Amino acid sequence: MSRLCKIVPERCIACGLCALYAPEVFDYDDNGVVLFSQEPKAYQQFIAVKDQEDVIKAYKRCPVRAILLEK
Ligand code: SF4
Repeated sequence: MSRLCKIVPERCIACGLCALYAPEVFDYDDNGVVLFSQEPKAYQQFIAVKDQEDVIKAYKRCPVRAILLEK
């Protein structure tokens, strides 16, 4: 099962948490701002990600809600 995920780089404070939890989904640009590791240009659209605990953890732990998940 997968869920739709979107990132909001404008909110990201480059804390480095999300890729720690879900490195196969999240990565960072040269400034440490979040991007999708598989689709680095997809930041204004939802993409399907596996509904895994690590993605949910990253979503919950992001301090500025720069990661959005749809059910
Ligand atoms: S957890 Fe949130 S604030 Fe931290 S790097 Fe990831 S998207 Fe940015």
